[in-house]
Formats: sequence, C-alpha cells, structure tokens
Amino acid sequence: MKRTLELANPDAIYLAGRWTSPTGSGRLSVIDPATEQEVASVGSASAQDVAQAVASAKDSFDSRIWQDTPVPERARKLRVIANELRARHEQLAAALTLEMGSPWSVSFNSTAGPPRVFDWYADLLEADVTVEKRERANGEAWTTLDPVGVVAAIVPWNAPLNLSVLKLAPALAAGCSVVLKPAPSTPLDAHLLAECVDAAGLPEGVVSILPGGNEAGEALITDPRVDKVTFTGSTATGCRIAHACADRIARVALELGGKSAAILLDDMSIEETVERLVPSATMQAGQACSALTRVLVHRSRHDALVEALAARMRAIRLGDPFDPETQMGPLAIERQRDRVEEYIAIGRREGARVVTGGGRPAHLDRGFYVEPTLFDHVDNSMRIAREEIFGPVVCVIPYDNEEQAVAIANDSEYGLYASVFTHDDDAVWRLARKLRSGNVARNAVLVDRTLPYGGYKQSGLGREGGLEGLRSFQEQKVVYLS
Ligand code: NAD
Repeated sequence: MKRTLELANPDAIYLAGRWTSPTGSGRLSVIDPATEQEVASVGSASAQDVAQAVASAKDSFDSRIWQDTPVPERARKLRVIANELRARHEQLAAALTLEMGSPWSVSFNSTAGPPRVFDWYADLLEADVTVEKRERANGEAWTTLDPVGVVAAIVPWNAPLNLSVLKLAPALAAGCSVVLKPAPSTPLDAHLLAECVDAAGLPEGVVSILPGGNEAGEALITDPRVDKVTFTGSTATGCRIAHACADRIARVALELGGKSAAILLDDMSIEETVERLVPSATMQAGQACSALTRVLVHRSRHDALVEALAARMRAIRLGDPFDPETQMGPLAIERQRDRVEEYIAIGRREGARVVTGGGRPAHLDRGFYVEPTLFDHVDNSMRIAREEIFGPVVCVIPYDNEEQAVAIANDSEYGLYASVFTHDDDAVWRLARKLRSGNVARNAVLVDRTLPYGGYKQSGLGREGGLEGLRSFQEQKVVYLS
C-alpha cells in the first residue's frame, strides 16, 4: 500500500455542491503521524466560506427542493453515495491511515461501514411512516415528521469518516440541508466523501463539506440560520456548543467523551478476559470514546489480572500503520501524544504505579508513538481514573463485591459505555440495570450503527444511529382537523 493519496480537488472545498476555492489563504497541513512528515496540504474553509455555505443550505431548505423530492429518488441518491464509497474503499482506508495513523487493517475494516450506513438509511427512508392518524374526542388529528432544517455537523479526528457519515446519512434521509465541518488534521477522508456526495448530484446547497479550524466551527455553531448542531468531540467543546445553541434554542446533539469501565466477574478466567479486553481497551491507540480504560476486578484476582494484562499489552506490535503486521500505530496528532504523556506523569505523581509502558517505544525513532501503558495502585478518585486520556493507558482498580464494582463504574462524570466480563447473561442484565451508561455489552465493546448510540451524563446528549438517529433530524408536528 502506497503512502500517498491522489485527491481530485486538493485546493478546493466542497461548498453548496460545487468544488470552490476557499476565500482565505489558509491551508490545512496533513501530517502523517507515523513519519511526522507532511503528506498533503489542502484548502481550509474560512468563516466567510461557512457563512456562504449556511446561506446556501438555508435557501435550499426553504425552497423545499430536497425534502419534496419523492422518497424513492431521495433513497436512490443515498444509495449512489453508498456505492461511490464502496468504489473508494481502499482510497478511504489509505486516507485514514495516512491522516490519523490507524493500522491498515483497522482502517480497511472500518471503511466498510459507511456505505452500509447510507444503504440502511435509504431502506429506512422508504419504509418509514411519517404521517399517523391519532384519535381524539372531538375530531381528527394527525402527527407528521418534518426535517429539522439546516444542520451543522462537526466531527473530530479520531474516527472522522464513520462519524461524518453517521450524521450526514440520517440528516439527508430526513430531508435536511447539511454543512459538515471535519477536524483540521483529518481532511483527506472528507475530500473523498465529498467526491462521493458530488456523484449523487444533490440539489445545490444541500451539502457542503468544509474542512477547517475551530474558527470555522465557531462561525457555524453561532450562525442563527442553523437549526440544529450535531457534534462529536470533547466535552469542553460540547459544552461551548450547548451554550451557543441555548442562546437561540437551536436543537443540539452531543457525542462526547468517556471513561468506560470493564467489570470482570469471577466466573470468567483471567486468560479469556485479557484476550477480549485488551483490544477493547487499546483500540485506535486508545483514541476511542468507548475504550474500556478502567478495569475493575475483585481484589482477590487483582494481582493475577495485572500480571496477565501487562504481558498481553507488552506483546502488542507497535509500528508502521501501513505494515499489515502492525497492531497499534502512533497517536493521531502531536498534541495528543503530549497530552497522553502529561497524563502518565500525572498518574505517577498521584501515586499510581506504571506496570508496563509509560514511555515512547525504543525501536521507533520517529512518529507520535506511546507504549501501551498499564497502571495499578489506582484509586478511582485519581485524575487518571476520572479524566479522559484518549490514549493507550489503562487503569486497574480493585473491588470487594459486585455492589462496589457498580458504584465505582458509576462514580464518573461520564457514562458512555460499560462492559461486563462474564459468561452469565443474568449477571449482565443484573448489572446493566444499575449501570449509568448509554451502552452495556458482554465481554466487548460493540457498536452497531443500526442501534441508538450515545451517553449518559457528560458523555453527551441525544442518540445517533438507528431509527433514533433519523428522528433526531426531525421535528414532530400535529395537524388538527376539526
Ligand atoms: P475537539 O472538541 O477539540 O474538536 C472536535 C471538533 O470540534 C473539531 O472539528 C474542531 O475543529 C471543532 N471545534 C473546536 N472548537 C470549536 C468551537 N468552539 N465551535 C465549533 N467547533 C469547534 O475534540 P478533538 O480533540 O478533536 O476530539 C477528541 C474528543 O472527541 C475526545 O474527547 C473523544 O472522547 C471525543 N469523541 C467522542 C465520541 C463519541 O461518540 N462520544 C466519538 C469520537 C470522539
């Protein structure tokens, strides 16, 4: 696999359905995190470009051109996008590996998902019932579902394509116009996605894809013509967006951070746990909001688990993400490596013990790599157990009984994911009822985009994916017929 990527329009942005030169002189430099070399430089959207895209989105929405397009034709266009994504499978995977350093096999597998999401929403659009008769005492009433309006979609750099598609596909299915702003460090997949959207020939103004910096994002969320902001990223930015939306009661959906717990129950062997747990704790070099970074184990098995986890984490093959043997690549951006290293230092200062890792791998002299790092002697009040590190750093915390395990899992500002390691389905149900998180799985992290995904507490607001994902881009209306 080559370390290069050909983009059809590297200097342009996809504004209102056309490839256009950005108004500002700013560029986005794409750094390969494995080599620290620039691999591309692409046009960056300015605040002025954002304003133009929103104006065009509003014009298209007010004209009703997209929402009044017959359902079979709208569904057909979604399927065209799906097929275009399929046709670019390898290119998209290469884009992800280049811009964020995810191992080739991970990029390749994850790139199979986005076309399925477009197809799934096309099917749902055709099957969905949006007008329903309701009985009332004095006459007749109907409920209908309208598209919410102009949507601003903002995504981070850690799973950019999947997260973009999870917003774009249902918003288009609902009949909305969308301005999508990818993160500045990962514009390559966004360019390819724009090529796919372009091939579908949507009406002018319905989709803009504008890679740009935080200023472009700020211009987007504060634009009064935006009816809904759907955001994935850090809790700090989500908080800022919620404030901006509150000023005008704009609809808002937030998919934020996590500090998810894996609870190991006594019926599960240490060996089996470790084999299943390590990939779920270190996926995407830990840059995954659902990563299981707090491991809770009965005190009697704590030391045995720590020993086995450390051995398994030491065996992870770090290296060039384009090498098919590589299991973990670098962190996606330099400032993320700085942040992870700072947290490892914080953990040491707090009195936790580094069992394995804790530094940069000696055999790699460039790239933003951090060794898979395991802490024990961790108390759940420590910052490394409470704050999202977003790197390959795992904390082991002992518990004395099941009730305490649930209490520790729930003692978090976050509530995105929890996983119970056991063979006992009844135990999973028993704990799932008490766990304050949007997702609970047995022995893994599972995310099915046809089901609603989201978090409790500071992990977010609202749900994405599934029917709920479509409904989040719709407003309900009641029509009374007296
Ligand atoms: P970030 O919040 O800094 O940036 C995310 C996006 O928001 C980027 O596109 C950025 O340009 C934009 N942005 C920043 N400031 C803005 C502002 N004032 N107005 C509008 N847009 C603005 O997050 P990040 O560092 O890029 O991503 C990592 C974070 O994302 C982690 O905390 C992770 O947990 C979270 N995340 C959550 C999920 C989820 O589904 N819950 C998924 C992936 C990532």
